[in-house]
Amino acid sequence: MTVVRTPAIGIDLGTTNSAIAVWQEDKAYLIPNAHGEDLTPSIISIGEDDTLLMGQAAVTRQLTHPSNTASHFKRFLGSERRYRLGREQYTPTELCALVLGSLKSDAETWLGHGIREVVISVPAYFGDQQRKQVRLAAELAGLEAVRLINEPTAAAMAYSLHEQHSRRFLVFDLGGGTFDVTLVEYQEGIMEVRASAGDNRLGGEDFTQDLVDAVLGRLGIDRGELTLSQLGQVYLACERAKRHRSGSGLEVVLGAEWNRTFGFVESELTDIWRESLNRLRKPLSQALSDARLQPDEVDELIFVGGASRQSEVQQTAVRLLGRFGRHELDPDRVVAMGAAIQAACRLRDSAVEELIMTDVCPFTLGVAVNQGDLSGVFSPILERNTVVPASRVERYQSRHEQQRAVCISIYQGERFWVRDNLHVDDLEIPLPTGKGIQEVDVRFSYDINGMLEVDVTLVNSGELFQKVIDRSPAGVTEESKRESRERLARLKQHPRDALPNLTLSERLQQLYEESIGDERRQIEQWLLQFERVLASQDPQVINSFRQQMNKLLTQWH
Ligand code: AMP
Repeated sequence: MTVVRTPAIGIDLGTTNSAIAVWQEDKAYLIPNAHGEDLTPSIISIGEDDTLLMGQAAVTRQLTHPSNTASHFKRFLGSERRYRLGREQYTPTELCALVLGSLKSDAETWLGHGIREVVISVPAYFGDQQRKQVRLAAELAGLEAVRLINEPTAAAMAYSLHEQHSRRFLVFDLGGGTFDVTLVEYQEGIMEVRASAGDNRLGGEDFTQDLVDAVLGRLGIDRGELTLSQLGQVYLACERAKRHRSGSGLEVVLGAEWNRTFGFVESELTDIWRESLNRLRKPLSQALSDARLQPDEVDELIFVGGASRQSEVQQTAVRLLGRFGRHELDPDRVVAMGAAIQAACRLRDSAVEELIMTDVCPFTLGVAVNQGDLSGVFSPILERNTVVPASRVERYQSRHEQQRAVCISIYQGERFWVRDNLHVDDLEIPLPTGKGIQEVDVRFSYDINGMLEVDVTLVNSGELFQKVIDRSPAGVTEESKRESRERLARLKQHPRDALPNLTLSERLQQLYEESIGDERRQIEQWLLQFERVLASQDPQVINSFRQQMNKLLTQWH
């Protein structure tokens, strides 16, 4: 029997791109997907015949089949949002499971053995519900998320791996759909998250949408007047323009039916993006004030997330902090690397044993109480930025002697009224009657993965009621997990993405590049034939063509 040492695997499940990394020979490496790329677009498309296309293969389908293609679904994890793709509807969790499943199979092909335990990064600002959905997505993909690590924490880990000196990092992470600011302090091998703040509805996507609105404004058209496909074209043109700028302005080139180019100079862009840029300020100042730090007490500013490449975004951060940022490590890849480092720490790899990490609970958790005549007032138990694991207890009283039960309603958020916070769960506790006003102790314990446990004790009798709010995600039964698994298993991989077919296609393309004249024309014919055979999606036809071709190519000089 071959024994394989449990590999330390980290996954960055990104809004726009995802990546999987492994810790090997004292370093974190990104694992390439079947296309040879180490970033896989988090895009899912379902073709005719329930064929699943994902990653690069799904990117172009955003244009050709927009109604069967989904992207940015990570933003809606835990919401009621459903995506109709092909014949079925999918939850954002199921779509994330498909992304994770594809990363898993890429890693297994690359490593040559199966994987199960992984560390997955999540935005620091993700709430309890969203974290549960990430774990569920992993489970549906046949993985076990043994640890969830906050994305900025992962980035800081990657930066401080070989750090000798004490430092305070401000990790500025602007991804496709989320914004996180985290203050991390590194001291003699211990990394401590001091504060975390963010906006989980702000990302590079908003900057692209602002630009789409500006272009539509110039065209004098409303969004509602465009078909999904037309809107997709404008969107892609804006996204391209934003990514490939030279200088301070940019040009949006609209092809096809429009055939027009719109130029925007620096001052126009500042106007277009003013509101989105302003939204960066609040989490920055909140993280600083929660950590009781002045901007000049931060040693380093680290940029993470593709959207932090945008110059206006960097200028805003640099101006607010009064220092320049670092991005030696690729902002798109650093989180996956940090997650793999964390996985190595868990497995006590000797090279990273030194690095210990502490994290914080990024939001306040509490219960609903009555204050005098007012009901529905929030009473915090674990305040935001408490170092985790943490456990706190608060004592409450029943309202009158005849009360038969007390309902502990758990909320997450920072607002005075519970109705403005996020409802997490309820716990109904029966009270003994006729024994006077009852006191109850409510204990919240928050673990390192961001999971909450609630213990309620009746002070008089010592009777204990417990609820673990994690483990089985709220409202998700074994039955519905099985249904999800079956639905996902029905999807078939497009033959074009199967590894042997990709390998042949790559080989032919390489030979095409290398040859000239008649030989080149011959290879061109084979490439075209192979494309047609793949389009048939008939495994027998494909396999027999591939075998013939492979035989022919062994004789090719
Ligand atoms: P992520 O989820 O970290 O992959 O974030 C991707 C986001 O970064 C998308 O919204 C992109 O529009 C944005 N992005 C990537 N590269 C650039 C760039 N060079 N300039 C501006 N935005 C970028």
